[in-house]
Amino acid sequence: MGLSYSLYIGPYIQCTEIATPYEINKRACWNRQCSQAEQSVWDNEKLFCSKCGNAIENKKISKVGNQCREAWEDMVTEYKEHLYPVNSPQKSNHIIMVPNIQMKTISRSLAFNTRSDSINVEVTPQSITDELKNFKTEMNSEIAIVEKYWGKENVTIKWGIIHEIN
Ligand SMILES: [Zn+2]
Repeated sequence: MGLSYSLYIGPYIQCTEIATPYEINKRACWNRQCSQAEQSVWDNEKLFCSKCGNAIENKKISKVGNQCREAWEDMVTEYKEHLYPVNSPQKSNHIIMVPNIQMKTISRSLAFNTRSDSINVEVTPQSITDELKNFKTEMNSEIAIVEKYWGKENVTIKWGIIHEIN
């Protein structure tokens, strides 16, 4: 088993995931004494529990969680590949998205999993300001989609260093 290190230096999107209540439909045997109780039954033709013979029924289950990331995984195919999501090590409800495409206005490779050689980035207050501005312009469509899924108030554009060890 090998370790891989990835380093990203530059602008990124930070999303704060808000846990929201939602409901799911679950088909199962709801007999509490049954060993298969509450296990999802995916076969719609199956009307009775194979263990206890109870009727398989639908129930609405209330959950609290983050649906944004799931929605993102499922729905945004066009732009999904343009951004690479990283779980924030500091805050479990933060997701960081780094560009996964070569930007026109930033010459160094910004792809997170690049296997390129050593890099040397000179950082100045002006370079950070410029890169943030370019990022917002160039990744405008991607940012808009992230804002749509996470909510504008939960999305912040930042500049920083992200190191991932897999
Ligand atoms: Zn049962």
